[in-house]
Amino acid sequence: MKVKNIKSFIEFYQNLGTTTSMTNTVRGNSTNLLYQDLAANELEKVPILKKNKNQSKQKKLEVLKSSLEDINCDLKDIATNLVFSDGNIDSEIMLIGEAPGAEEDRQGKPFVGEAGKLLDKMLSFIDLKREKNFYVTNILYWRPPGNRTPNNKEISQCLESTVEHIKIIKPKLLILVGGIAAKTLLKSQEGITKLRETIHYYYSDNNETKIYTKAIFHPAYLLRNPIEKKRMWDDLLEIDKIISKNNIRR
Ligand code: URA
Repeated sequence: MKVKNIKSFIEFYQNLGTTTSMTNTVRGNSTNLLYQDLAANELEKVPILKKNKNQSKQKKLEVLKSSLEDINCDLKDIATNLVFSDGNIDSEIMLIGEAPGAEEDRQGKPFVGEAGKLLDKMLSFIDLKREKNFYVTNILYWRPPGNRTPNNKEISQCLESTVEHIKIIKPKLLILVGGIAAKTLLKSQEGITKLRETIHYYYSDNNETKIYTKAIFHPAYLLRNPIEKKRMWDDLLEIDKIISKNNIRR
């Protein structure tokens, strides 16, 4: 690690209020089972979107958003708000998380609760700001009750619209936030600890576009396991490197 990076790392660590404590909270969930049934599940069909090549990005996003009204997702009726996206739609960097939490459900915006604030703070260390150079959404557009992990059926119900969402935004770098987003979009059964170790590619637009993809720990996990912020720092440096090397707009 270079001296400049060591200095920034210390600043990063201090700024995030990291203590030496470490908790071992494990979220009871079905994460490991995620891929066992996904292939077998029929993807719920989003109503066919009007594909007009001349439609502006904004218009395409509006069409996608309104198509969600017709999605058959069990969470829709229990959520307060649809949580679609936030950030600059012309960004070359797109983040995809898991599902809205309580605060996101209340405000109708992704990553605005405690975990979201931590995410924004960490990304600011490599000059990424949602109002300027990144766009953010989730695999699921509605909050699972009690913030439980989404199940395979719910993920399948939303997956086609997420694929369309990526196609519309056309990012040059995709950042998958947490295990659910990473396993789903990388079609992997590996856990996030393994998936974050390599740079992947996501193939968009019927395999016509290859997008650099980096998986990172979910900020909610970092809140429960502050010691892991160290590895998050390595991931931020890696993201920074991908951006610089490939002239991705910041
Ligand atoms: N966790 C997520 O994965 N997404 C959000 O929008 C908020 C918390």
